[in-house]
Amino acid sequence: LMRVDHLDKYYGDWQALHNINFSIHEGEVIALVGPSGSGKSTLIRTLNGLEPYQKGTITFEGKKVTPDKVSWQKLRQEIGMVFQSYDLFPNLTVMGNILLGPTKVQKRDEGEVKAEAQKLLERFELADQADAYPRQLSGGQKQRIAIIRALVMHPKLMLFDEVTASLDPEMVRGVLNIMQELAKKDHMTMIIVTHELTFAAKVADQVLFLEDGRLRETTSAKQFFTNPQTDRAKEFLASMD
Ligand code: ATP
Ligand code: MG
Repeated sequence: LMRVDHLDKYYGDWQALHNINFSIHEGEVIALVGPSGSGKSTLIRTLNGLEPYQKGTITFEGKKVTPDKVSWQKLRQEIGMVFQSYDLFPNLTVMGNILLGPTKVQKRDEGEVKAEAQKLLERFELADQADAYPRQLSGGQKQRIAIIRALVMHPKLMLFDEVTASLDPEMVRGVLNIMQELAKKDHMTMIIVTHELTFAAKVADQVLFLEDGRLRETTSAKQFFTNPQTDRAKEFLASMD
């Protein structure tokens, strides 16, 4: 579905990503892990066209993505992203937040999108929150709404950047459960940045281990969590216990 070849990214003169290579196939789940400051958010934002890159290529569905704004604008509709901060629009209801992208950007029929949104809200046990405003919701609820808001655009790829990192511990499970269900039931193609390694071991097919802007290990999740190849990955796993 997506392939990244020899990707370099700079912030000014400083190189944040060095020669990144990997690919993700339809239905696959990748866990992107690594220490703080290793470049995980930078990489995931680059894959969504939110950050420019200076070298290398990104290929989506067999087509090279050109770095211009217009082609990324189109592509961004196919790539859903959920961040650590839920960034829902505070002045819109839950339903208003969910409808915005499909009706305004994709110009789909409002009634049809609403019915689909209602189904997703029911599925994720949020049916009675459709008319609530974000400030009336818990962090976990907001994050589940943010996921629904991305899903209703029918993305081919979902990117998650530490979506449980700012949640109270009792909220984390509900959000992880949704992601697990998307992986196992819907076979959604996903790249997940997470510090929840038990979760990553359960849902991921592949692990990318990033350190100092370099991919130190690209391997099956099974191999990474049972028998990592590099000392750096071993140290990282030990530090997370
Ligand atoms: P964390 O686990 O803490 O979220 P991360 O792996 O997501 O870390 P990034 O946020 O991608 O790391 O940052 C990677 C490096 O790039 C860091 O050294 C950071 O200071 C730097 N960086 C990130 N964003 C910018 C920016 N907009 N301008 C300049 N440097 C940046
Ligand atoms: Mg980050």
